[in-house]
Amino acid sequence: MSVPDRGAGHDAALRDVTASRPVNPEGALVLFSGGQDSTACLAWALERFDTVETIGFDYGQRHRIELSQRPVIRDGLGRLKKSWQARLGPDHVLALPSLAAISETSLTRDMAMEATASGLPNTFVPGRNILFLTYAAALGWRRGLQVLVGGMCETDFSGYPDCRNDTIQVLARALSLGLDRPVAIETPLMWLTKAETWALAETLGGQPLVDLIVAETVTCYQGDRTKAHAWGTGCGQCPACELRRKGWEEWHSAKI
Ligand code: ZN
Repeated sequence: MSVPDRGAGHDAALRDVTASRPVNPEGALVLFSGGQDSTACLAWALERFDTVETIGFDYGQRHRIELSQRPVIRDGLGRLKKSWQARLGPDHVLALPSLAAISETSLTRDMAMEATASGLPNTFVPGRNILFLTYAAALGWRRGLQVLVGGMCETDFSGYPDCRNDTIQVLARALSLGLDRPVAIETPLMWLTKAETWALAETLGGQPLVDLIVAETVTCYQGDRTKAHAWGTGCGQCPACELRRKGWEEWHSAKI
């Protein structure tokens, strides 16, 4: 991966996430939204685990189009590598209408997306990742899957406290205690920039995976699939589109 120098600790994290490992005989459950990050995580898990199932959540999000892209992306990943096809297990979608009911944010309500007084973007759904991971752990228990994989990331930190590594690791411990069996939460993107997430996709699945992510994943908060850009489809204006575009451009300039 060609990436800017960001220090020894960061380099070690990059080496770890891209290293080839023997396939883990355990199964993994990937939190898969249909976005760029969770698609990269799904490819990462398909490279490392013998059985990989996916879970998604329907919580009344404005960008609901991502839900309909999930099966398209799963099928696309299966076509990229025979081993991925063989390892890809069932998909699960859980409806969480209670999350929409308690959230007063622009993802679930028709409000302008502005920074709130607390400094958090008002796309923030309080504790969303904690809830998602807890539901995933409960489903994982029923499915015999003790490794959860999520696209949480501290590097492009938007002020989402439930994306922080400390939150995730303490939650893994709480879930292990509460379920009385080990639960691991793998977050391969935790220390990567958005540019490095593009580079990771290229390492895992070459240009065909990059093309699949560009064509089919939805990052845009508006769920806009009508405007095509080099980095994918989206309104091009919202913070999520901005981050995706910036990452794409940084990745391309690092390759030159
Ligand atoms: Zn957008």
